[in-house]
Amino acid sequence: MTDQAHVRLTSLEKHFGAFQALKDIQLSVEKGEFCALLGPSGCGKSTLLRLIAGLEEATSGRIEIAGRDVTMLEPSDRQIAMVFQSYALYPHMSVAENIAFSLEAAGVPKAKRLAKAAEAAALLQLDQLLDRKPAALSGGQRQRVAIGRALVRDPQVFLFDEPLSNLDALLRVQMRIELSNLHRQIGATMIYVTHDQVEAMTMADKIVVMSAGQVQQVGTPMELYDNPANRFVAGFIGNPA
Ligand code: ADP
Ligand code: MG
Repeated sequence: MTDQAHVRLTSLEKHFGAFQALKDIQLSVEKGEFCALLGPSGCGKSTLLRLIAGLEEATSGRIEIAGRDVTMLEPSDRQIAMVFQSYALYPHMSVAENIAFSLEAAGVPKAKRLAKAAEAAALLQLDQLLDRKPAALSGGQRQRVAIGRALVRDPQVFLFDEPLSNLDALLRVQMRIELSNLHRQIGATMIYVTHDQVEAMTMADKIVVMSAGQVQQVGTPMELYDNPANRFVAGFIGNPA
């Protein structure tokens, strides 16, 4: 068997009324790969991620995760976890309770929940902050709690939608490094939406360049560097397109 795709999208399309947001998307993401979806605002990145997560229904096409057709499954049955750019934490709960919350809904016993939360907190440098409330955290620490919430569920696939775009420039650089380290440590498949070329070039194994609802180019950062698909990518690289 040569087909190792962990996430496979086949002829995926999405219409909102008469507007076609996604056109004939074909994409394979390998197990353990860090895949960036890169493109300008409005090109369909979030819509694509929401289809993979099951938060939005595809108009047509197929979504497979680990060889299983999940196109018609509920989000909770897809073994994915999503981290958004706005990370609404529960203000009255501690860091540990926020991280463990989704496990409570899933019926995991308390001792197990707290152990999983502590384990996630250690990976995210939150272990000294378990009793704090969100109001007493920095922006970067809050984003780590949101990532911790995803981590405790042991998903097969992590989906990130511009998780660092609300942070200031210095924290963004720091969190990029930490997210790359986390990816290396846990070896999970990650699909990471961004409009930031630097972020995609520095973090991803594979970059999917999107434009107007379509996949325009797929390649490693070096392949894109050598052969930028469009001005959006070339603008960062400094090559005229
Ligand atoms: P991106 O994340 O790349 O900025 P989006 O996926 O959010 O882009 O949006 C892609 C296009 O689809 C945009 O033109 C947007 O206005 C449109 N769109 C997204 N969601 C909806 C919706 N629920 N109803 C109608 N149009 C939508
Ligand atoms: Mg978006």
